[in-house]
Amino acid sequence: MPKTEAPKPPNPGSDAAVALGCTCARMDNNHGRFAPWPPDGWWITAGCPVHDPKPEAAPQTKGDR
Ligand SMILES: [Zn+2]
Repeated sequence: MPKTEAPKPPNPGSDAAVALGCTCARMDNNHGRFAPWPPDGWWITAGCPVHDPKPEAAPQTKGDR
């Protein structure tokens, strides 16, 4: 069975993405309906928790053992 564990986040700027905390530009992404350009060139805002999550954003997993 193939793993289907990494679900794609909703399109940047879409209502669903914003509901998850997306901070990408909505207008520049046509409100998540289609990418501006190139065809997969979504406008990702740096630091968006949905589309540009920080790799080291887990400070709570330390020092428990
Ligand atoms: Zn986003």
